[in-house]
Amino acid sequence: MAKRTDLTTYEYRKARAAFLAASDVCHLCGHAGADVVDHAIPVARGANPCDTDNWRPAHGVHRCPTCGRNCNGEKGASSQVKGLKTSRDWYAGG
Ligand SMILES: [Zn+2]
Ligand SMILES: [Zn+2]
Repeated sequence: MAKRTDLTTYEYRKARAAFLAASDVCHLCGHAGADVVDHAIPVARGANPCDTDNWRPAHGVHRCPTCGRNCNGEKGASSQVKGLKTSRDWYAGG
């Protein structure tokens, strides 16, 4: 019994392209030009990867043309240190 949840299928790609064509405003930085689909509830936590209600546009393949962030990549890399600020900005002189 086959399940139709293969993320590499042509149908998934087509749905994703249509989704981004309808709305490309990144849900992480709020700017246009999103090029990947992020999941509001992570698939790792049990969300259905094909549930379009759970899809959110995000910058991932290319950086945001407005603010320069790689939003989806940042999210994965720094999710546990969000909001952490170093105090070195003022100490850059020398
Ligand atoms: Zn973004
Ligand atoms: Zn942005």
